[in-house]
Amino acid sequence: TIAFLNGEYMPLDEAKISPMDRGFLFGDGIYEVIPTYAGHPVGFTGHTSRMAQGLEAIAITNPYTASQWHEILSNLVEKNASFIDSGNIGIYFHVSRGTDSKRFHAYPKDIPPTVFGFAFEIAPPQPLAKADVKPFKVALQQDKRWQRCHIKSTSLLGNVMHFQAGVDAGVNETILFNNEGMITEASSCNVFMVKDGSITTPPLNHELLPGITRAIAIEAFKQAGLIVTEAWFSKEALLEADEVWLTSSSKEVAPVIEVDGKAIGTGEVGDVWEQAIKAYHAYKFNA
Ligand code: PMP
Repeated sequence: TIAFLNGEYMPLDEAKISPMDRGFLFGDGIYEVIPTYAGHPVGFTGHTSRMAQGLEAIAITNPYTASQWHEILSNLVEKNASFIDSGNIGIYFHVSRGTDSKRFHAYPKDIPPTVFGFAFEIAPPQPLAKADVKPFKVALQQDKRWQRCHIKSTSLLGNVMHFQAGVDAGVNETILFNNEGMITEASSCNVFMVKDGSITTPPLNHELLPGITRAIAIEAFKQAGLIVTEAWFSKEALLEADEVWLTSSSKEVAPVIEVDGKAIGTGEVGDVWEQAIKAYHAYKFNA
């Protein structure tokens, strides 16, 4: 596949950076993953504005305007179309603070950021019928990450360790709760739950990523007349929910049928999920 590195396109295995890059040494950078289907991105504006905010939060000058990011995305999709026949292409963008001559924690002055992008195959759009969807099973853990989870940092070790705990338990993801026992998000997704027909997702703060899929889903659900509230709910409430869903750019809205070994609702994909995925597909390219 073809990658983008510092203004140039090249085969991915020829893209090289210095081990003195602060992205490598410190995880000092910001990233995004933007899904595209048949060349059409989902949530492009949301993704580029979240990246701009993340870069601003850590004092890296955004190397490109939104329209320049769009051009790089289009080029990566086009150059990789022959390698990824399905047309379901995720675009990864990564901006690190750049390469320094020494390893010193303070932000160095005036070094150019390292800008990297590549394309990879993502899952096809979620099916509309619950009989056709692959449901998730998840673990449940106390959130042990840092207090700046709203920043989409490339320092992902906390997330990686939570995700791996799920893998070690034989499930697909790990849902996290804070010190008060309230659900924040999952290690790589946001979380929604349904009780008595109404949909709830945790509100945004420093404990979770402002997911672009989350935002698109909330708007899509509202437009479809579904009731959706942003409010904290406990891990006990999660286990007693009728339905639980995960959202992310690569999973769209994915149903969860088991949390921490316990069946959610009937233990099968729920009816509200079918309404939700229909609403999501009807709206996602307008976001
Ligand atoms: N939370 C975390 C911790 C994530 O890494 C992600 C992205 N994989 C999400 C939520 C979902 O965000 P988005 O919908 O923007 O992909």
